[in-house]
Amino acid sequence: MTGFDFDACVVGAGAVGLACAHALARRGLEVVVLEKEPAVGQGVSSRNSEVIHAGLYYPTGSLKARLCVAGRRALYGFLDDHKVGYRKCGKLVVATEPAEVGRLAAVAAQARINGVEGLAELSGAEAEAIEPGLSAVAALLSPESGVFDSHGYMLALVGEIEARGGAVALGAPFEAAAALDGGGFGVEAGGAAPIRLRVRRLVTAPGLEARAVAARIEGFPAGRLPPLHYGKGVYFRLRGRAPFEHLIYPPPIQGALGVHYRKDLGGQAVFGPDLAYVEAEDYSVDPARAEGFYRYIRRFWPSLPDGALSPDYAGIRPKLHGPGEAQPDFRIDGAETHGLAGLVALFGIESPGLTASLAIGEEVAHRLGVSELAPV
Ligand SMILES: Cc1cc2nc3c(=O)[nH]c(=O)nc-3n(C[C@H](O)[C@H](O)[C@H](O)COP(=O)(O)OP(=O)(O)OC[C@H]3O[C@@H](n4cnc5c(N)ncnc54)[C@H](O)[C@@H]3O)c2cc1C
Repeated sequence: MTGFDFDACVVGAGAVGLACAHALARRGLEVVVLEKEPAVGQGVSSRNSEVIHAGLYYPTGSLKARLCVAGRRALYGFLDDHKVGYRKCGKLVVATEPAEVGRLAAVAAQARINGVEGLAELSGAEAEAIEPGLSAVAALLSPESGVFDSHGYMLALVGEIEARGGAVALGAPFEAAAALDGGGFGVEAGGAAPIRLRVRRLVTAPGLEARAVAARIEGFPAGRLPPLHYGKGVYFRLRGRAPFEHLIYPPPIQGALGVHYRKDLGGQAVFGPDLAYVEAEDYSVDPARAEGFYRYIRRFWPSLPDGALSPDYAGIRPKLHGPGEAQPDFRIDGAETHGLAGLVALFGIESPGLTASLAIGEEVAHRLGVSELAPV
């Protein structure tokens, strides 16, 4: 590693940055992860649904389609190997009125193209028999969907990175980088103990800060910085017993998968997230939004009692598209996009980023030209 402090530096210790560092460490690279917060997984990765998506919805040939399916398959194996909690509970995508049946058929067709295993198209009666209390005119059953402990997953990734000689530097905000003569990058991080590093490769996975971090890399073309929109979603928790075992989803809406039901690993029922574009990071949950939730949930669960929902938490999606615009793919930008050899910059890693994270890590390693796994 002549002249370099590390083979690779990853900015951001969320699920995706850690999975990228893990993929590089598995290939024998000495890796450092820079994280501005005092702990890992405090960003988007801590405010989501913790759903393992099967890969139903994403357009043919997209990164989302390929990396969600590959990432999901890899994730179940990783969770088994590291004894991280999950429940492969399956998902029912439900049509609650005849007008939605066509949208359900379109989801099923796309899911088959994407290679999702085990799908079954059900009548309303069949779905209601599986989940008494549900109201549906038709449903799509996806047995590969599940819920998992995303924090346990991230801690297991840290363990893997450290076991392979890598480091996760906490309280170390990335401040700037510049390409070095002869290759690699000089990287500056601030915090209580500012550091300067010489690294051969650089990966940026800072979630909501993706645009700001890339803008601080000298020579990153301004015209290649994508727009950033905040897509806020709030959740409400059910007081009382969880009514269903499966995840229950409506057909997707423009820009999101729609307010869904999940029974979390603690056995509690959670509904959300909705979608509202906001200008600033604000994680408050307006209790007034409950009204829309009651109306929406009662379409598939008519017996939801009055007063049963309480405000829970909120998350913000790092979106590349504004309201009403088509939802674009993940962006995994290498030198062909920005001209900086040895840099991969990630943008717009919203859902299914958690599910896809291990596959995103593999993709990043390939883009950096390090495909061979190191001997164990
Ligand atoms: C409401 C909601 C629901 C979702 N539900 C699901 C789901 O059920 N299933 C699924 O697969 N996906 C889901 N997602 C998407 C998923 O949560 C994200 O794709 C994933 O967590 C993104 O991880 P990340 O590592 O890219 O970002 P983050 O987790 O945000 O990590 C980025 C890290 O970079 C750090 N950082 C930022 N700037 C700097 C800097 N200058 N220097 C150093 N560190 C920095 C941050 O502190 C943070 O820790 C959901 C997202 C939302 C918002």
